[in-house]
Parts: sequence; C-alpha cells; structure tokens
Amino acid sequence: MPKLCVVVPAYNEGESLREFHARLAAVFDQLAGASEPLDCEVLYVDDGSRDDTYAVMSSLREADVRVATLKLSRNFGKELALTAGLDAADADAVVVIDADLQDPPELIPVLLQHWREGCDVVYGTRSTRAGESGLKKFTAAMFYRVMEKLSATPVPRDTGDFRLMNRRALDALKRLRERQRFMKGLFTWVGYKQKSVIYDRDPRFAGESKFNYWRLWNFALEGITSFSTAPLKIATYVGVGTAAVAFAFAVWVFGKALLLGDPVRGYPTLMVVVLFLGGVQLMALGMIGEYLGRLYLEAKQRPLYLIDALHSSRQAETALPSPDTATMAASMREASRSALK
Ligand code: UDP
Ligand code: MG
Repeated sequence: MPKLCVVVPAYNEGESLREFHARLAAVFDQLAGASEPLDCEVLYVDDGSRDDTYAVMSSLREADVRVATLKLSRNFGKELALTAGLDAADADAVVVIDADLQDPPELIPVLLQHWREGCDVVYGTRSTRAGESGLKKFTAAMFYRVMEKLSATPVPRDTGDFRLMNRRALDALKRLRERQRFMKGLFTWVGYKQKSVIYDRDPRFAGESKFNYWRLWNFALEGITSFSTAPLKIATYVGVGTAAVAFAFAVWVFGKALLLGDPVRGYPTLMVVVLFLGGVQLMALGMIGEYLGRLYLEAKQRPLYLIDALHSSRQAETALPSPDTATMAASMREASRSALK
C-alpha cells in the first residue's frame, strides 16, 4: 500500500494540536477507507517548545498508532524543524503542513489527487489570508515580487510551505544540506513537475504567529541571499554610477575654478559628497557582510539540528537507529560525499 506521511512542525502549539489532530485523523480515516487506500502517518516535530506541546504530542502518539513524534534539542526555527521532519520521513508522498490550522488538512485529498495523476510536487497557493493584518499581507506580497525579480529560481507567489512531495522530490530535497535554509526556495529549486492548488488561508486556531516583523525581515534577507547574488551586483553598479557622477562633478569643479578663480568655499558640497560616498561604501560593505556572514556559518559545517527523541509510529514498528547515531551517520555520509567530489 502506498504510504503517506504528514510532517507538522510545531513550536508552542499546545492549544492547537488536539484540534489539529482531530481534523487530520478524520482525513486519514477517509483516505484509509477510499477506493485506493493509503497507509497514513503523521510526524509531529516539536521545535523546542516551551509549553506543553511535546506532552500533547506524546499523548496523541499513545492514543493513535498513526502518530510519530520527533523532539529537537532546542528551538531551531521552522525551516530546520521542517528539515528534521522531512529527513525522518520515509513515504511515497510527504505533506508539509502548519500545526496552527491555517492550512486546512481537508485539502490533503486534493493534493493526493494531483500526486496520483503524476505530479511530483503539489503546493498550496493562498488566494486569501484571513486573520492577517493588511501590513503583513502587503509586506508578504512585496517580498514575493522582489524575489521574483531577483532570484533565478523564482518562488511561486503567495505560496507557503504547505505542499505535497513524492519520493523523488523528497530525496532531491534531502540532498540540499545548506545551513541557511529558505525552504520555499529549496522546494522550488528541486523542480520536476509542480502544480499549484488554490485555497483560502484560515486564521490561526489559537495563539499568535511566531513570525514578528523583525523575524520576517530576516527571513526575507535569508531568502534573497540564499537565492540571489543580485545585491552584490547592485553594489557594483551603485559604485560605478557614483564614480561616473563624481567624474562629471570633478570636471565641473575644475572648469569653474579655472574660469572663475578659486575662492575658498564649497564646504556644503564637500560635506555632501563625503557623506554620500561614506554611506554608499558602508552600504556596499554591509551587503558583502551579509553574504560573508552566511559563508562563515556555512563553513562551520555544524549539523543542521540535533534530535532529542524520535518515536516512530507504532503502525510501522520498525527498528530505527538511535537518533544521535542517525544524525552522525548522515553527517558522515555527507562528509565522505563532499570529500569524494
Ligand atoms: N514553527 C516552528 N518553529 C518556530 C516557529 C514556528 O516549528 O520557531 C511552526 C509553528 O508551530 C507553525 C508553523 O511553524 O506550525 C508556522 O508558524 P506561524 O503560524 O507562527 O507562522 P505564520 O503562519 O504566521 O507565517
Ligand atoms: Mg501560521
């Protein structure tokens, strides 16, 4: 029987999880009883929550054989929690969904339908985003449009992480081991046959978004620097442009001095030029710094995440190596692979 694994990253989602699982379990029941039955499983990833999220997950696991849980050693952020979940997932189709019920689990059968028709990746595109402020919608829209202009692998507009991947797309994704992970971009980079499904995004079931504007800004920087070197080029062009303007200005200043003499004036112009150039230089340095910092993080070659506890679903009952050896083995495999290159 083909296997479906739903990966759910959760950080302080204790309030939503039970309701989420109830809705997901109803979808699973429906899928198991369909004409083409599926072996369904859900993997909850606890991203170092500080509330009772992990306790709720564990009780769900005890009550339902289809539940697997993964606890990270601390909060690594959604992108890494998702990566950890996808690394642990082993299924013919994997669905990624948020725990806050903003993405409706009831849409999973639709995603599966397209998967059966031969799509490798089926992603949800939000037509509306209920319960989100005008400013958030506006900044999100701007971000997708900037990314579209800058990136060589454009991220589809208004598309979150809610999606389905088949095994070959998942395996391809697992080979991308960069530390600065902008998942939406990585999902797109993989390519293959992708299809979008339009849906309405609901408001959060409980709690608050973990992404404030500062985090979103850093997330946007992550996206841009991971998928584009255009800002570095912008620095070059701004430099060239400034040099050209400075040259024209120099000609004008010399000409004026030759024709009209050279009284000691021009303090304001001097200040303006010095400050402007200083500003441009700092900006360019800052841009280079953004990339250099990321290079530094990448060069350290730390493991992407550490696992505290991994419990597979009782449905499978297959013996898994202990989590630490699993991460170590993965990083050793990776090291030998890169050494071979
Ligand atoms: N999340 C996570 N780790 C974090 C922050 C968020 O695993 O550090 C999870 C969170 O529990 C939720 C999903 O990522 O399931 C999306 O987060 P959120 O709803 O806060 O983001 P938004 O929908 O506002 O973009
Ligand atoms: Mg949300």
